[in-house]
Amino acid sequence: MSAITNHMPTEELQRLDAAHHMHPFSANGPLGRKGARVITRAKGVYLTDSEGEQILDAMSGLWCVNIGYGRDELAEAAARQMKELPYYNTFFQTTHVPAIALADKLAQLAPGDLNHVFFAAGGSEANDTNIRMVRTYWEAKGKPDKKVIISRKNAYHGSSMGSASLGGMAAMHAQGGLPIPDVHHINQPNWWAEGGDMTPEEFGLARARELEEAILELGEDRVAAFIGEPIQGAGGVIIPPETYWPEIQRICDKYEILLIADEVICGFGRTGNWFGSETFGIRPDIMTVAKGLSSGYAPIGGSIVSDEVAAVMAEVEFSHGYTYSGHPVAAAVALENLRLMEEEHMVDHVRDTAAPLVKEKWKKLTEHEMVGEAVITGLMASIALTPDKASRAKFATAPGTVGGVCRDICFANNVIMRHVGDRLVIAPPLTLTPADIDEMFVRINRSLEQATAAVKEKGLMQAAS
Ligand SMILES: *Cc1c(COP(=O)(O)O)cnc(C)c1O
Repeated sequence: MSAITNHMPTEELQRLDAAHHMHPFSANGPLGRKGARVITRAKGVYLTDSEGEQILDAMSGLWCVNIGYGRDELAEAAARQMKELPYYNTFFQTTHVPAIALADKLAQLAPGDLNHVFFAAGGSEANDTNIRMVRTYWEAKGKPDKKVIISRKNAYHGSSMGSASLGGMAAMHAQGGLPIPDVHHINQPNWWAEGGDMTPEEFGLARARELEEAILELGEDRVAAFIGEPIQGAGGVIIPPETYWPEIQRICDKYEILLIADEVICGFGRTGNWFGSETFGIRPDIMTVAKGLSSGYAPIGGSIVSDEVAAVMAEVEFSHGYTYSGHPVAAAVALENLRLMEEEHMVDHVRDTAAPLVKEKWKKLTEHEMVGEAVITGLMASIALTPDKASRAKFATAPGTVGGVCRDICFANNVIMRHVGDRLVIAPPLTLTPADIDEMFVRINRSLEQATAAVKEKGLMQAAS
C-alpha cells in the first residue's frame, strides 16, 4: 500500500477523504460529493491547498493560530520535548518540568489571584472539569445543593456532553439528549438581533439582569456558577454592550455565584489584552483556556483557578483527570508559544497596530448595501447582513442562507471568513501585517460586492415579515 502524500491528485485525496473520514460539524454526504478542499501547508496568514491556491486565513484555523503558521520555533520545541520525555502523567504523585513551567507561566499571566491550573487537552474538556469542579467546591463548603450552572443561549463552550450542555446552541442540544441536568440558559446580549427599541446600554443591563431573575427564581442556594465568553465567538462574535459585564459581575458578587470566564477564544491577545476579562473588567473565579494557548500547534487547554477555589479543592480528592492533562509535548509547545508572544510584543502589536488598522477598514464595510452593523474588539470582528439596515431586518429565507452564499463566495475568492447564521466573522492571526490587512480587505470587499449581486439575483434580498 502506498503512503498518502500531498502529491496525490486532489480528486484522489477527496475520494479517500469522502470514503473514510467523518468531518465534524458537517453533513458528510453532500460534502463528500462536492469534495473537501485539501489544505497542504501554511505560512504566516496564508494556507496553500492541493491545487497550489493561496488562501488568506482570516479565521486563524478555528480561532486558534494566534501566532500565525509556520513557526519553526514551535516545531523545534515539540521535537526537543519528544526526545527528552514524550509522555508522562501527573496523576499518581509525579510531575514533570513542562507542566510545572506552564502552570507557573499561566499563574503569572492570568489576572488577579488566578494562580492554579488544571490541564486538559482542549476547551471542551476544560469546561467539563469546570462543571465538576464548581459542584465539588460547593459540596466541600457544605452547600451540596448549589449545582445549577447558568449560561446563555447561543453560547459555545465545547462539544462534549457537559460542555455542549453549558453551551446554548439549539442545534447541538437537539442531538444526543442534551443538556445534562442542572444547566439553565438565559438570553444572550445580542443587541442587533434582539435589542428591539432599547439602546444598547439599556439592553445590556436588561440581559444581565436576567441572571439575577434566574438566581431568584431558582434559589440562591441552588446556583453554583455563571459561565460566559467575554465575547461570544462561535455564536457570531457578539460583543456585549458596555453595561453588560459590570452588571453580571455585581450579581455574581452579591449572590456568591462563581464566575467562569470562558477565554478559549478571547485569551492570549485576541482582544488586545492577554485576556478578554481584562478588556471587559471581569474578575473571574475560573478561566477556561485552550486554542491560542498553543496557537493550535498542539492540543492543550485548562482551567485557571483562583486561590480561594483552589484552597477548597485542595482538601478534596478530586476524582477527575485526563490521560493527556498537562501533556509534556503540548505544554512545551504552549510555553514556547507564550515566550514568542512576549518576545515579539504580540499583545501590544494587536492593541496598538493591527487592531486599529483593521477597525478602520472593518467599520467601512457598512458602506456595502447588505452590511448592517460592523463590530470589532481587538482582532475579532463581525458584520450583520440584512436586507434593511434601518429596521435591522432579518432575511425572509432560513437563517444562514444568505450568510452561506457570502461565505462560499469568500472561499472562492481565497479568503476564509466564517458565517454564523447571517453574520460573517473574522479572527485572523495576531501576527497580521499591514500588507496582510490590505490584501484581506481587497478580498473581503470583492467578495461582498459579488455576494450582494448574487443575493439579489437569487431573489434573496427580502425582509422577513
Ligand atoms: C472552541 C471553544 C471551546 C471548545 O474547545 P475545544 O478545544 O474545541 O474542545 C470552548 N469554549 C469556547 C469559547 C470555544 O470557542
